Order: sequence, then C-alpha cells, then structure tokens
Amino acid sequence: MDYLSTRGNMEKTNGAGAVIRGIASDGGLYVPSSIPKLPVSLNEFTKMDYYQTVETVMAPFFPEFDRDKFHEAVMSAYTGKFDIEELVSVKEAGGFHFLELYHGPTLAFKDMALSILPELMRLSLEEGEKNHIAILTATSGDTGKAAMAGFKNREGFSIIVFYPAGKVSRMQYLQMATEDGENCFTAAVEGNFDDAQTGVKKIFADETLSEIFAKKNIQLSSANSINIGRLLPQVAYYVYGYSQLVKDGTIKSGDLMNVSVPTGNFGNILAAYFAKEMGLPIGKLICASNDNNVLYDFFETGSYDKNRELKVTTSPSMDILVSSNLERLLYLLGNRDGEQVTTWMKALNAGGKYEISSEMKEKVQELFYPYWANEQTVANEIKALYEKTGYVMDPHTAIAYLAAEDYKEKSGDSAPVLIASTASPFKFSDTMCEALGLDTTNCRNVFDVARLLANKTGLPLPEQMVVLEKAPIRFNEAYEKEQMEEVVRQFLHVQE
Ligand SMILES: *Cc1c(COP(=O)(O)O)cnc(C)c1O
Repeated sequence: MDYLSTRGNMEKTNGAGAVIRGIASDGGLYVPSSIPKLPVSLNEFTKMDYYQTVETVMAPFFPEFDRDKFHEAVMSAYTGKFDIEELVSVKEAGGFHFLELYHGPTLAFKDMALSILPELMRLSLEEGEKNHIAILTATSGDTGKAAMAGFKNREGFSIIVFYPAGKVSRMQYLQMATEDGENCFTAAVEGNFDDAQTGVKKIFADETLSEIFAKKNIQLSSANSINIGRLLPQVAYYVYGYSQLVKDGTIKSGDLMNVSVPTGNFGNILAAYFAKEMGLPIGKLICASNDNNVLYDFFETGSYDKNRELKVTTSPSMDILVSSNLERLLYLLGNRDGEQVTTWMKALNAGGKYEISSEMKEKVQELFYPYWANEQTVANEIKALYEKTGYVMDPHTAIAYLAAEDYKEKSGDSAPVLIASTASPFKFSDTMCEALGLDTTNCRNVFDVARLLANKTGLPLPEQMVVLEKAPIRFNEAYEKEQMEEVVRQFLHVQE
C-alpha cells in the first residue's frame, strides 16, 4: 500500500514511512493510494471485541507489518490503560446513541489513537529506520497529554508539546504541566492554537534545521492528527460502534447509521468518512462546530475563510480556525489532484481563504451535514438532557448531540445517529456545573468542582483525576512563538 502527499509530489512511501515522517516533504498530508474495503463481513465484526476490531480494520493499511507483531502492538496499546474493560461503550439517551470514546488515560477520545501511535511508530522503525524520534505536537488541549501518555519513557522517543498559554481548561493545563515522563517536555506558547500549530509546522518545514537534526540522527515527527497513524486507528471505533448497534438490535446488519462528530481539526470526522469508504453503512456525516463555525460556512458556501477572530468557548478542543485534515478530504474528493490542493492551501496561507468548485461543493454537501451551536444553547442542552434522562454529556459531545437533533428534525431521516462522545464530563467540570446550575462557590479548585459534579450526578469520579490532584507541577513557563525552535533545540540538546 503506497502513501502519497495531498500536495501532489510523487514521492511514495509505505504506511510505516508515512507514520514516521508525519508530514510529506512538500508540506502535504499522507493519504493511502486507495482506501481498502473492510476485510471481513459486517456480521463478522459483531463477534469481535475492540482489540480485534482495531486489528482487522487497520491491517489492510499496513500490509508491511508482521501480523503477529501487529497483534501484540494492538494488545499492548490498550491493555490496562482504560477504565472500562471493553474500552469503548455505547449508551442510549434522548433517542440517540453515544459512542463513549473517553475511557482512556486522559479522559478524551484522543487516547483511542494516541495509545497506539507509539506502537505503530515502533513497528515502523523496525522496518528499517534507526533514528531517535522527536515528536513535536501543537495541542488545543487534549492531544498534548494523550500524546505524552503514549510516548512517556519509551526508548528512542522524545516528545515536546506546545499549547496556547491560558487557553486550555484548568484540567488540561494540570494534565500537561504535571507530566513526569523524563522524555517529555511541555511548553505554553503566547498566542492561540493556530499560532502554536503554525510554529510547529514552521519547524518541520525548516530544511536547514532538519539537516542539523539529521546529523544527530534525530528525526522529527508529529503526533498531531495530520499523522496518518492518528487517523487510521479512529476508523476502528466507527466499525465497533456500528457492531454494537447491530448487537443491541437498533439496526440490522447492512442498515444505514448516521454519525455526528464534534469537530475541530477534522480528524475524527474524516475517520468516519474513511469507515464509510471502507464499506461501513454510514449515511450522513454530521459535522458539528461551536462558535468557531468556519467549517459550517465552508459546507454551506464552498468557501473556506479563516479571516475571523478565534473565539474561546467552553468546548476548547474545537476552538480552531484551520482544520488541517480537511485537506485530505479535498484531495480524495477532487480525484487526487495535488496541484489543485496546493493552490487552495497556498491561498489559505496567503489570504486566509480559498473556494472550491461548485461540483466539489455538491460532493461535500451530499456527504456532510454541517451545524454549529452557540454557548448558551450548549449549556441549556447539557441541562435539558440530564434532567430528561440522567445522561451527562460534556460540552463537545453536547454540540454533536444538538447537531444530531437538528439533522433529524430538518431531514426527516430516521436512521439512528451515533454520536462521537469525545470527552468525559469531568474534564470540563466547571462548565458542567455551571450548565447544570450547581453552586461552586465553596469549591477550592477543579477537583472540588469535579467531586461536586460526581456527587450530584452519581457518576464515579474517574481515577485519572484522583491521581492528578496529587501530582506536582513540573512545567510552568510560557514562551513567545519565536522561541519555539529554541525550546526544541534545547530539549533535544541540539545547539548547532
Ligand atoms: C480533539 C477534540 C475534538 C475535535 O476532534 P478533531 O479530530 O480535531 O476534529 C473534539 N472533542 C474533544 C474533546 C477533543 O479533544
């Protein structure tokens, strides 16, 4: 299976190479030369647990991996790290199905991919690449800790995480600032997520720098969702979610389901698109946004325009103006025309916007249903669903829930909707308590707030939080954007 850049350079690599490099040399994202069909029948998947589903869905993308080693990699990626044995669960509430993807070490869905990414990289290195891998990652809040949890104290890897100073939740901050892995470094950057992401991309694109690193046998790589090794593990949970709906009798094997995804960088929903292309019966891909509704406008008008202020919301992991993974969709839907993608991305870089053809617009509108919700609506809905059903959803998930309701009402489509439930409500306890009308004036810190939430809702306080409360702060410094390269050099001991 070949992997090619979305920007059209004809340099090919295999899955292992794409995982290690993270981003192609022309700045494009790697995409497999064809999306394989699911290798077994839908019925067969209903007999599998999560581990088997991951292995079966992902194997066709990595034919170069030894199958036994890959099996072990999947097992060791997820075993003993999640707070429920089945890893992922599906819950029904308010007429929809919630695919709870947040039972991993950092209480958000990014654990699903970041638990296995280090394993994929390790297997890929065995395919012949001998370098020390330095992972550079920009995070809007959840990726950072999840990536460090995956790479922590692994031989042959270092990891540096940049996040926008003051723009992540208190919980997210504590998770990253208390990281104790010896090979891990966390740096707050003055600016917003896009600044941090741009800074990282700049370091990757700096050829002089990569030559200097190469001399020291250091290879830079990314744990951001631009890495194909992030995307592919996510395809598996849509297949798994579908199987659960078949098993509980909601649908018959072969029936359509829709999916609703709270979207930021467009990785999660793109994984659902991959699942659909592999043959999973998915109808609409419901793309849910918050006040930062760039994607909504894009799907409505065909014009992607990031020229607007980034708003800080109660769903910070969706506070993004440039959804990097959209590039992969454009490439795939535009008959793999890398030149065209390059033109759009250049326009995005230069003037902050681009416009797709009307033909292309029709294609995306056929596939996707866009929606966005404002802050008050989100808070109201969290409360309303809780009062009606007792189900507690975090602010990101609530937006996908609203989107699902909106789609169902406006389209009349009665197929069940699987909602990607991306974070534990405890990760956003402040917002949750406020939405639920709980009085936090007597709470001394986020942990008190979380306990209040636990007491009121009857949900158990996650063990992940209990541990965090006692952990000492290790990283507390904020840097200017211009210092990012220096931070990287220092941590990796590369001065010239
Ligand atoms: C990262 C994240 C998202 C957005 O996912 P993308 O793959 O970037 O679209 C949504 N919700 C939560 C809780 C997240 O951490």
